[in-house]
Amino acid sequence: MFRLSVEEYAERVADLPVRPSAVQVEQLQWAVHRVAAEDLRSPVDLPLFRNSQMDGFAARSADVAGAPVELPVVAEIPAGAVEPRPLAHGGVARIMTGAPLPDGADCVIPVEDTTDAGDGRVRIERGRGIGEYVRNRGSDVHSEEVLVPAGTLLEPRHLAALAAAGVAEVPVLGHLSVPIITTGAELLPPGEPLTPGRIYDANRVALETGLAVNGIGVGLRRRTSDDPSEFAAAFEEVHRASLVITSGGVSKGAYEVVRDVLEPRGVEFGSVAMQPGGPQGIGVVDGTPVLCFPGNPVSTQVSFAVFARPLLRRVAGLPPIEADAAELAHAVSSVPGRRQFLRGLRTGGIVEIVGGPGSHLVAAMARANVLVDVPAETTELAAGETVRVLPL
Ligand code: AMP
Ligand code: MG
Repeated sequence: MFRLSVEEYAERVADLPVRPSAVQVEQLQWAVHRVAAEDLRSPVDLPLFRNSQMDGFAARSADVAGAPVELPVVAEIPAGAVEPRPLAHGGVARIMTGAPLPDGADCVIPVEDTTDAGDGRVRIERGRGIGEYVRNRGSDVHSEEVLVPAGTLLEPRHLAALAAAGVAEVPVLGHLSVPIITTGAELLPPGEPLTPGRIYDANRVALETGLAVNGIGVGLRRRTSDDPSEFAAAFEEVHRASLVITSGGVSKGAYEVVRDVLEPRGVEFGSVAMQPGGPQGIGVVDGTPVLCFPGNPVSTQVSFAVFARPLLRRVAGLPPIEADAAELAHAVSSVPGRRQFLRGLRTGGIVEIVGGPGSHLVAAMARANVLVDVPAETTELAAGETVRVLPL
């Protein structure tokens, strides 16, 4: 039976031995929002070859130094041209953006600076120096240089750079697998007809989509009654995973099925000085870490955001979701001795509290976009005071 502050409990959560995932090789399109497992080096120089930055005329800068001049157009080089012939002295080659520059040419005259002089000749109004409008081979990245460092959360721009370098597959950290067990004899899956005494299971979808939007793999999902043998069987089915999350059945009342089954197996139950989310269970069963959240839907969602999400994002190599500051729209009072995570709606830099303190208020929670973190010792906050807010 532990009694811990949020900070102390968060440290215990952070110490859980969640297994770092095995590396997987994914095609580029499936690698978005995954994490690069190693330094990804470019196998080639980029640009791949010296090419033109403009539609215009490849020239020798010495030949156009006396512009305006008229010169013969001795070749035409479209994008995709293969090994154009070296540029003859005193001539220019019509060239398209991205087309390879012929040997001998050292600059490009943009088409805007030219006029057709007839007879296969072009009038060049303005000369250009060596290298102007020329993209040199390897000027973006050299072969064997790191294109994307290990640990990068892969965004479309990273994948585009890899594609440009001809890389088709990337090693990424594997998904964590997090099974979910929701418990309660009263629970019904949404969509089924309601019968007396039953309520719909809000926690399964909160947890599975909470995992999904954080790029964490959802494992098996089970919903059980408060019958210990039923819960034990479900736990047996799911428990070889990165981390098991359960909801409900962790307090001190009767029918605390999660506690009754997992306490003898080494999971510790106790209370964290917070609201909502006070009763919590934590432990490792057969090598698999387990977090047991209280069943009230707001408690489950707050527990996920405050404890599970930082742990899982860190192990998955994802950046933390940082808390930031906002100004209270109105005064707030809070009970002493417990850190409160009030539901808040932040608009710009201002946050207002939505709904009351009850941890069953799912509709009010749905209107919130942050948790407003009120320290344990604080009892009154005035309008305009700065508070810490944790994005949901
Ligand atoms: P428990 O932690 O099991 O004592 O549950 C606390 C409260 O939350 C009870 O009113 C339960 O009916 C409710 N509850 C538990 N699990 C869920 C769930 N998955 N979805 C919605 N409400 C739940
Ligand atoms: Mg219950």
